[in-house]
Amino acid sequence: MKIGFVGLGNMGAPMAVNLAAAGHDVVGFDVAAPMPAGVEPAESATQAATGADIVVTMLPDGDILRSVSGEILPKMKKGAIHLDCSTVDVESARAVASQAEAAGVRPLDAPVSGGVGGAEAGTLTFMVGGKDDAFSDAKPLFDIMGQKAVHCGPSGNGQAAKLCNNMILGATMIATCEAFALADRLGLDRKSMFDVVSTSSGYSWTMNAYCPAPGVGPVSPADNDYKPGFAAELMLKDLRLAQKAARSVDSPTPMGRKARDLYAQFVEAENGRGKDFSAMLPRFEKRGRW
Ligand code: NAD
Repeated sequence: MKIGFVGLGNMGAPMAVNLAAAGHDVVGFDVAAPMPAGVEPAESATQAATGADIVVTMLPDGDILRSVSGEILPKMKKGAIHLDCSTVDVESARAVASQAEAAGVRPLDAPVSGGVGGAEAGTLTFMVGGKDDAFSDAKPLFDIMGQKAVHCGPSGNGQAAKLCNNMILGATMIATCEAFALADRLGLDRKSMFDVVSTSSGYSWTMNAYCPAPGVGPVSPADNDYKPGFAAELMLKDLRLAQKAARSVDSPTPMGRKARDLYAQFVEAENGRGKDFSAMLPRFEKRGRW
């Protein structure tokens, strides 16, 4: 396939490299990032998109997605697919999808889980919103870039799935970290805490697969001085998107809101930026009850 790829940052570059390595003809554009090996450079997003069967976008946020889509959609081939893998607000995803349909382009919103490691290894999970025919036609690309693609319904539902998942993840990470900090002060050693919780009803992905306590459980960013992994500021971005979505449909999310507030404080007032989101544990360790 002829693929246009716009946004070749930490995630986009390895995804584009994997598509090129699988034999696709990939033409890329980024305003700042260098062109990865195997990707043919274009001079603009429009040039990368023109004549492509599928255009993948992997951009920082909804405003940039709207602006890039405004440029590329009118120039894309009729019947081509716009596959947006960025994490953006549901409203932007749906607005861009309507714009695509009006231009005769088939939209898919397909945010990912798995981080830079998953992008490099081709083991991402895609959560996809859009029509069946577009999902089936994009499936070969999901199979190259990822290990799983779940079709979640119409446009915007991929983003809805992503933000609901990450709202659970953020709140669960905080709960796991505060429980470890409490256990410390109660004199319970971390290995015993892990052994009990990971096999009891408090278990979770954050405890069992991504334990925030160094030296306990499987190797995780905690064992690498809390280098990300999944950075606290990216978690904050997703928790803010979840709150925006919750406000738009008047849905109560008290835990999600508290998680957003704690990550905002951590990132913006406590040097949490650039640390893995599991660095909430050393944050709790250092504090008193209030
Ligand atoms: P990044 O900042 O490394 O990459 C984004 C790229 O977009 C940059 O290279 C930037 O120069 C480029 N860009 C910005 N405006 C542009 C424009 N107008 N035209 C062309 N290129 C433009 O970010 P990333 O970590 O690759 O994340 C990309 C998306 O994936 C984000 O929406 C993020 O939330 C999501 N995501 C990231 C991770 C992760 O672990 N990094 C995990 C899951 C999802």
